[in-house]
Amino acid sequence: MHFRTRAIHVGNDPCPETGAVVRPIHVASTFMQLEAGKWRDFDYSRSGNPTRSSFQETVANLEGGAGGLAFASGMAATHCVTSMLNAGDHILAGSDIYGGTYRLLHHITSRAGIETTLADSTHLDAFAEAIRPNTKLVWIESPGNPRMTITEIAACAEMAHKAGALLGVDSTFATPVLTRPVELGADIVMHSATKYIGGHSDLMGGVLVAASKELYDQLYFVANATGAIMGPFEAFLCARGLKTLELRVREQCRTALQLAEWLVDHPKVACVRYPGLATHPGHAIAARQMEGGFGAMMSFDVDGSFEDAKRVVESTKLFHLAVSLGAVESLIEQPASMSHASYDAADRAKHGITDGMIRLSVGLEAFEDLRDDLAQALAD
Ligand SMILES: *Cc1c(COP(=O)(O)O)cnc(C)c1O
Repeated sequence: MHFRTRAIHVGNDPCPETGAVVRPIHVASTFMQLEAGKWRDFDYSRSGNPTRSSFQETVANLEGGAGGLAFASGMAATHCVTSMLNAGDHILAGSDIYGGTYRLLHHITSRAGIETTLADSTHLDAFAEAIRPNTKLVWIESPGNPRMTITEIAACAEMAHKAGALLGVDSTFATPVLTRPVELGADIVMHSATKYIGGHSDLMGGVLVAASKELYDQLYFVANATGAIMGPFEAFLCARGLKTLELRVREQCRTALQLAEWLVDHPKVACVRYPGLATHPGHAIAARQMEGGFGAMMSFDVDGSFEDAKRVVESTKLFHLAVSLGAVESLIEQPASMSHASYDAADRAKHGITDGMIRLSVGLEAFEDLRDDLAQALAD
């Protein structure tokens, strides 16, 4: 079956008792057993909950993995992965990773005696050189944030496996509609479900999909032991979000490409970073590993100062001035003062985050309205 059919039908059988075509939200924390010591499918909602299970089954199927686990947030999902490691292990991560992941690896995971090195995952030779004998996890993001860098997942999987490490991919920007890392050799896929999976800026959630049953079991052990699981209401919203994910993402990609092409020609725009543009350094790889679209995230630099960019992000009327991404409403932000403000100036420079940079999350509004909104903001 096709992706969009599975998104609607897998894990979503009608309720066997009532025939309701939408399953009820199971809020029970505990489940009555028939005999002492003989367990039914569910016993306690941290360990397993029918609403969460249903969402996990759908998302694992869409990613082509052996099993899925849903968490309270994307960071809780990533933390579950790092919690599988032991003191003395090493993590190699791409330099364009999400700021919260950077903080987790450098300030929390490090406390357990696990060291992290960052290296440029877009240059595979340099990235491979940063592998150590004790590297147990390689962690990448593609497209990366906020420069929209593209990392070749299949090559990273080969590199990690040769070194005896697992490859984890934060695929939040790509969504399973555009990229399925497990098919490219990744061991673990992570999503901030807060973004495209939820898709409406109304929930926090995270997901892991494991490529094998063994890895799923190891992750499940950590998830159950540490308890940062997704609640049933969020699981219901995420399962609902998946049903329209393909339609939303395809349309958002289409509008994003139109906006990127329009911005390229704008006299006040110095450069546009969007993997769908032939001028983007990662375009050829993106065209291979992203199917039917290049995502709906982009960044561009205004030809001007920090203050000029600040004025633009504060002048849009449809694009809301906010961090986060992936929802039906378009968002605009200035990385230097918002999403990446915690980096010091030297770190921002090292990561290519310029003062004039503006990041867009393109939503589902009409292209013409979004274009006109950016035009008036840039004209001020
Ligand atoms: C938002 C985000 C996260 C963190 O997810 P939360 O749900 O906010 O915890 C991780 N990676 C990427 C790429 C994100 O955009």
